[in-house]
Amino acid sequence: MANVVWHKNFRILLDLTRDDLDHPEFPGLWDLIYATDRFYGRRGVPVSERDLQCGGVCRDLGVEAPMHLRMRGGRREAVHERREDEERHTAPMSDEHKAYQERILRAAHEGGFGGDSEVRTRIGRTWIQTDTLVEGADGRRIGWEVQLSTIDESGLRGVRARAGKAAKNGITPAWHTDRAAYAQRNDAHWTRSDRLPAELIARNGDLRIVSGFRALDFWHCDTSAVYPCPNGIRRCGKAHATAKPRDVFFDDMVRQTAAGTIVPIQFRAGTTVHRYWVTNADGDRLEDLDSDDTRLPPERETTPATGASRNRPTCQPATAPSAEQDPPTPAAPLAARPFLTALPLQPAAPAAETMPPDLEERETSVPQATDTTTGLPTELITLQQAADAAHHKLQQLDDHHERDLQRQAWRQAAEVVQAAVTRYARTKRLNRHEVETRLRQLVRHTAG
Ligand SMILES: [Zn+2]
Ligand SMILES: [Zn+2]
Repeated sequence: MANVVWHKNFRILLDLTRDDLDHPEFPGLWDLIYATDRFYGRRGVPVSERDLQCGGVCRDLGVEAPMHLRMRGGRREAVHERREDEERHTAPMSDEHKAYQERILRAAHEGGFGGDSEVRTRIGRTWIQTDTLVEGADGRRIGWEVQLSTIDESGLRGVRARAGKAAKNGITPAWHTDRAAYAQRNDAHWTRSDRLPAELIARNGDLRIVSGFRALDFWHCDTSAVYPCPNGIRRCGKAHATAKPRDVFFDDMVRQTAAGTIVPIQFRAGTTVHRYWVTNADGDRLEDLDSDDTRLPPERETTPATGASRNRPTCQPATAPSAEQDPPTPAAPLAARPFLTALPLQPAAPAAETMPPDLEERETSVPQATDTTTGLPTELITLQQAADAAHHKLQQLDDHHERDLQRQAWRQAAEVVQAAVTRYARTKRLNRHEVETRLRQLVRHTAG
């Protein structure tokens, strides 16, 4: 028996514990479905060919388990057709599993967060079932799924689909196990603890996460680097990140994911994308590292600009602009500038763009000084150098607040150069993308 039934054709879940099956929008739903099922029965239609399947554990595990309906002592019941499906429900949750659920809720509670076990979140016409759901700060919801070595591997079907569905619906999936083989899967953000008896899990003592959490080491690819360049044999001069295993207390993990100070990331190493948990500072920094002028990191809430910052970042390009040109960025103090939003995507310009008439007059404003080999205006080169220098500096900073300010400086410089490239390409009727590529090649390959 199960309380939740999936109607294959209506594509809805039915909650048999509720009079209206949790579908107040369809009055008389039970009468319709029950009568239909009885009719199928009288016609000898096999249960597997009817409309109903188990919508509980079986469906959660990706198993299609046919069901039929009956009334027992005035109660509505759905019955599995196959014994093996029924047994899936009667297998009691292990004591260890229960101990984890309790521990998660207790740790969350001590951190000032609420939560509950076996939570069903309504998503349109269906639900998401979460093992233990923690209600974190700022509407953050962490969906803990505990999968211990007591279950067999077939129980792990559809992990990616379930994690994906949760994430799509505002629940950050957090999968925890005590089995190394699960923890190595990259289909969800797995954490692992050693295999422990329920008494130890339930106790207040230290419970460690031994895999799944990483500390990111940010480094510069030069001759003094201790790691090999992930992109080749030689030193490439760029910034890289290396993810190092780091233990974390389970209770801290529960509270910090709820608080948003530990976040999930996807970390590319070669062709593999790993799913790790890191501090939000590391996560932010990885975003900075993976971003580019045209793919700026998302806006973040920054610490108020009035906060103390010993080293005020600078917008000045590494190479000073030539004397007759204006500085590339406005002279207003950083703190006073509005935060720029992400750059609008620049549409790829056609090879020969028709010049709008209003731009003809601007022709004169295009700088005449050009680089002798590429023909690119020196102004563009200077602006690109400024943006690259700002980005480079961002990769060097460790202090969170300084990074916030420097990210704004870079954002600003990147927007200036992007706009200048667009203007130049339009006026000269050049393909914008090609101009940008040539410019970057010139600046980045002659940088030394
Ligand atoms: Zn079932
Ligand atoms: Zn490198």
